Amino acid sequence: MQTPAPFEYERATSVEGAIAALERLGSEARIIAGGHSLLPMMKLRLASPEHLIDINDLAELAYIREEDGEVRIGALTRHVDLLKSELLARHFPLFADAETVIADPVVRNRGTIGGSLCQADAAEDLSAVCSAAKAQVVIRGTGGERVVGMEDFHVGPYMTAVGAGEMLTEVRLPVHAGAGSAHEKVERRAGDWAIAAVSAAVWIDGGRIADAGLALSAVGVTTVHLTRGEELLRGEAPSEELFAKAGEIASEDCSPSADGRGPVDYKRHLAGVLTHRALRRATARATGQEARS
Ligand SMILES: Cc1cc2nc3c(=O)[nH]c(=O)nc-3n(C[C@H](O)[C@H](O)[C@H](O)COP(=O)(O)OP(=O)(O)OC[C@H]3O[C@@H](n4cnc5c(N)ncnc54)[C@H](O)[C@@H]3O)c2cc1C
Repeated sequence: MQTPAPFEYERATSVEGAIAALERLGSEARIIAGGHSLLPMMKLRLASPEHLIDINDLAELAYIREEDGEVRIGALTRHVDLLKSELLARHFPLFADAETVIADPVVRNRGTIGGSLCQADAAEDLSAVCSAAKAQVVIRGTGGERVVGMEDFHVGPYMTAVGAGEMLTEVRLPVHAGAGSAHEKVERRAGDWAIAAVSAAVWIDGGRIADAGLALSAVGVTTVHLTRGEELLRGEAPSEELFAKAGEIASEDCSPSADGRGPVDYKRHLAGVLTHRALRRATARATGQEARS
């Protein structure tokens, strides 16, 4: 039988209260949101926090809204709400692509965007989605708020920029004209973690790619930010040849490990193919050509 080590439990009634508890209890305290990553780790004794601070009553952290030229998502927003959001479908369709293939309805009804990003599992889908969409995250502590870009959020495997006494409160996605995005994933069976997954976003202006975001899941020790691929795309007219070159870069710049999901060469190949496909679909969405692509 797998049983967690003993722990104290409290339910936060406000964000300020949760942060005060984190500050008071120190490094042995952990936030619990959906619990779909933390509880399995506790049962396996890979995590043994002495205190759990439950944030599930904090309705003020569960929202998706447009404000100041950004789509803003509260940290406690569940996968299912990301899947169903019309606002996200309009501006960032890669969320629905990803959410359709993240786990199963049981996990999606409970798991949160904050928990997904803070778990910082390299195989997790939403970190790549948020990276490609050029998201910034809001981290709050007793000293106030700071805003961190996704490129600086993951500081190592299962490690983030969220410090002691802090929590993630919001994800911000900048909205610009000419945007298109897509998430492509290959898994062994429905609901499984990725063998490899790629998130792509493009912003098209005057027939050229003004900016691009590319990030990969499950092919490195953290989410892979494909900066060399993004540089290749910027300023270019979209084409199959260009997307194929970006795919080659993805194969070269990822660093997968061999495991039960496949050997290194296979994962590198997938990273390339999925990058090409995600870019093709993101561009078709940006230019209104999706139905014909
Ligand atoms: C069977 C199964 C299959 C899955 N398949 C996939 C998949 O294919 N793709 C995928 O992307 N994910 C998958 N997941 C993970 C799922 O998406 C989880 O919901 C997610 O990883 C964690 O979200 P959570 O809200 O449950 O976080 P929790 O488990 O509650 O917390 C995870 C970590 O984040 C911290 N945390 C939570 N919220 C905050 C916050 N606001 N501020 C600071 N720290 C915080 C916690 O302290 C903990 O360290 C799967 C999970 C399961 C159980």
